[in-house]
Amino acid sequence: MLLDIFDPKAPPKPIGIDLGTTNSIVAHVRDGRPVALTTCDGTALLPSVVYYGDHGAVVVGAAARAYATRAPTRTIASVKRFVGRGMDDPQVRQLGTYRFVEPESAEAARTVRFDVGGRVVSPVEVSAEILRSLKRSAEEQLQAVGGAVVTVPAYFDDAQRQATRDAGRLAGLEVLRLLNEPTAAALAYGLQSRQNGLFAVYDLGGGTFDVTLLVLDDGVFQVRSTGGDSALGGDDMDRLIADRVLAAMGFGAGDAPPPEIVGLALDGARQVKHALTDAAEAVIEVPRRGGGSTEVRLDRAAFDELIGPLLERTGRACRRALRDAGVEAAALDGVILVGGATRVPRVRAYVRELFGREPLSDIDPDLVVAYGAAVQADLLANQSDAVLLLDVLPLSLGVETMGGGVDRVLPRNTTIPVGAKSVFTTFADDQTGFEIHVVQGERELAKDCRSLARFTLRGIPPMPAGMARLEVHFAVDENGLLRVRAVELTTGIE
Ligand code: ADP
Ligand code: MG
Repeated sequence: MLLDIFDPKAPPKPIGIDLGTTNSIVAHVRDGRPVALTTCDGTALLPSVVYYGDHGAVVVGAAARAYATRAPTRTIASVKRFVGRGMDDPQVRQLGTYRFVEPESAEAARTVRFDVGGRVVSPVEVSAEILRSLKRSAEEQLQAVGGAVVTVPAYFDDAQRQATRDAGRLAGLEVLRLLNEPTAAALAYGLQSRQNGLFAVYDLGGGTFDVTLLVLDDGVFQVRSTGGDSALGGDDMDRLIADRVLAAMGFGAGDAPPPEIVGLALDGARQVKHALTDAAEAVIEVPRRGGGSTEVRLDRAAFDELIGPLLERTGRACRRALRDAGVEAAALDGVILVGGATRVPRVRAYVRELFGREPLSDIDPDLVVAYGAAVQADLLANQSDAVLLLDVLPLSLGVETMGGGVDRVLPRNTTIPVGAKSVFTTFADDQTGFEIHVVQGERELAKDCRSLARFTLRGIPPMPAGMARLEVHFAVDENGLLRVRAVELTTGIE
């Protein structure tokens, strides 16, 4: 019999975390292979849902999801959509029916805050609860946890990356690296040691669709283009089936069934969808309005037809991503399937038709991103410089200029880590302060880009306009995180 003996001197083990919109996973490398660890739910997948109860009680995972219909304002799901965003972001209020705390100042408006039964929490704090739960599970199984690699979508901007890293820190994790999700998937397939080339990563999750074109060139993964739809995923399939379930239960199109009934129909719909991945037909029994019960039956052909329009939307995003990268589907060296919803056979067939090749799917699509994160964590912990993994900046970084334009200090797709500087000057006589507005994005005008930070360099001695020499340094580390420093060169003020 094998006994797991607790060894107090066991070396801390590095872990990889896929902090997903719908589900989160923690993995590590054991005997050279990535494996998923069991979460508090007893499965590899931990639903990314946090419930805030009375007296400071916090519940994470499937148990939290069960509260969603009963206590919707205390149950935060899909918190990833809010990470690194401000209340000043026009999209935020449409992202969920939570109770938001109205910001009392422009500074407070920079982060979203939820009122969960009288308690105020930020997306960073909610994410930290998920990470804390995963860390605890990992500690139980590995005894001691070393650093963690946490994945983020390739299109995440600096504020979203900073917030993810803050969540890790708050959870007591040493975040070794933030890694792009598609890059993680490519790593899990070991592409970095196999071949250089151009790869498409098709990621259909619960509520988001992302497509990324990656170029691999001697250990450097470059994101050539990204695209997708932030409101498209497996949950939409559930909603389509749920409409049929509700009809069978006796609710017509004009009825507004109570939330518990909708919740019940959605749960049933998800069961049907999952069953149809392995079987040609699925049946569930649901209660009928007014008493009794009824059967809902769906076969795969009908389901495939139902989800056709959803797949067409992913197709359009893929074609756009190919166009943005200036390549034809035929030029690809591989296509990788990521996300639980790519288990659906029709999705696989659709991707095959779209790209004209068999996609890589040997690795479990729910776990592939976490596996890649674990591989990267293992490489970093072992200081193996055999594979030096680099990534590129997803969006250009710059400074707002006088006329409201943007001076691009670091263009998108620059390989990171990287540093650069740009020199500015004063535009008025005796100007003693200089405001630096750091923005990220590709648009011509600063107001159309993402505003990352504003700061003012003060104490510049009075000089005629154009005499001061202000050097602004940008440094982006391997996580894609930016640090900005400004120096007035004639005086050395920093
Ligand atoms: P995210 O990246 O958003 O966290 P996941 O990759 O975990 O999401 O995908 C979750 C989605 O995958 C859900 O909509 C879920 O119902 C779906 N899914 C999981 N397993 C299956 C299956 N066997 N068949 C069909 N859909 C599945
Ligand atoms: Mg995912």
